[in-house]
Amino acid sequence: MAEKACSECHRLVEESTECPIDKNNDLRSNWSGLAVIYDPEDSEIADKLGVSVAGRYAISVR
Ligand SMILES: [Zn+2]
Repeated sequence: MAEKACSECHRLVEESTECPIDKNNDLRSNWSGLAVIYDPEDSEIADKLGVSVAGRYAISVR
């Protein structure tokens, strides 16, 4: 699995060493579950994950 997940906001990050959202460089390759957020304003999952930017997120990051 090439993508890594940000330990802070769970955003999936490809070909980068830091999260584009919060500039966190603690990216984990051990994650599971995938949530695709299209409209963070109107998404229960986005609300649960605390996501405010559309994109792909891991449900669980270890
Ligand atoms: Zn992040």
